[in-house]
Amino acid sequence: MPPVAPSSTRPRIPIAPVLSATSLRRARGPGLPSVLDAGAVRCVTSGRVAIALALRAMGVQAGDRVLVPAWHSPSMIPPVLWRGAVPVFYRVGPDGAADLADIAAKAPQAQVLMATHYFGFPQDLAPLQALCDAHGLQLLEDCAHAFIGSHAGRPLGSFGDYAIASTMKFLPVYEGGLLVSARHDLATVVLQPAGVAFEAKIALNSLERGFEYGRLALLRALLWPALALKDALRKPRGASTGPAPALAPSSSDSSFTLDPAWIDKRSSLFARVLLRLSSATRIARLRRAHYLRLDAALRCLPGIRPLYPTLPDGVCPWAYPLLVEDPDRLAARLGGAEVPVLRFGRPLWQGVDAATCANAVHLSEHVLALPCHQELRPRELDWLIAATRKAVGA
Ligand SMILES: *Cc1c(COP(=O)(O)O)cnc(C)c1O
Repeated sequence: MPPVAPSSTRPRIPIAPVLSATSLRRARGPGLPSVLDAGAVRCVTSGRVAIALALRAMGVQAGDRVLVPAWHSPSMIPPVLWRGAVPVFYRVGPDGAADLADIAAKAPQAQVLMATHYFGFPQDLAPLQALCDAHGLQLLEDCAHAFIGSHAGRPLGSFGDYAIASTMKFLPVYEGGLLVSARHDLATVVLQPAGVAFEAKIALNSLERGFEYGRLALLRALLWPALALKDALRKPRGASTGPAPALAPSSSDSSFTLDPAWIDKRSSLFARVLLRLSSATRIARLRRAHYLRLDAALRCLPGIRPLYPTLPDGVCPWAYPLLVEDPDRLAARLGGAEVPVLRFGRPLWQGVDAATCANAVHLSEHVLALPCHQELRPRELDWLIAATRKAVGA
């Protein structure tokens, strides 16, 4: 069997979950709820598509104002613009907590409040709901980092009028977003299948990513003749006749745009089956254990400190975020050592600067996050910790 081609830009360990033989293992005992437990669910192809559908379902129209946190993923803005609406950025505190006074000041002209549970850590929802009620705002809970988790005894995603999630950030799939509502039945959200080529591409990509990182070795051995044939067919032949239509929607690892062609498309069968078969209990338990190991090993090193002082009970983290004194230097050193690093909120949307919110600019520049997902193996976690300690200079 030919070796998997090494890539100089590929991190040594997967930055996001990859499919393995244990991906669908169950876990017993008490667990945490996921957004699937929060209400009615529609499976679409990305978190940003889910935002677009939520805004449409809320009746957001041209000229309406949508309050968006100044610390954000740039993929949160194109859905607002797609409705013809205006994003209005509100301030956040030094740890990303929504600034209630700033929201109250901006609420009278706005229709929707988007609130993000950064890295899986919930915003304080009671005062946000009270603000929305007082000003007639609809609440859109952005659970892109909080696919699993609870707050005040209820699933995240059940507090807003609508909620969205990004499947790719938590499961080994290459498209997927969820539109969720605890208050509306979503009957008006009608989705179309995206086609056989899309279905095949998503399933194959998921398998190939697993193979690339040394997972599913037996399956790879069985499948390699078929994969070799596919690679041979993929080699460029002669002049191309312009760009082919995209077989899959853009995802956060490649771009932050929104392609309207994907807005009413259903998520792949592969992603939907994986979603139903995955155990939120297992995922939460492993992510929390990995997070706590990283935290114990790294929290006291010079020049870095955890963004959050503790890991509260209901939280299932997306990643392990650090506040770093000299982030560009550390990011370069980690990159050189092939350590995967997530930098959330870079770039911020054009025009968002220190005058909009100094904390958002600081967080955007100074937060580096390490993966803590469920598919990291114990040896990979050991290596991640050792390589990070070395890069920090400890
Ligand atoms: C990634 C992300 C989104 C969008 O999700 P996609 O699935 O990449 O479209 C929305 N909000 C936040 C906070 C995100 O990090």
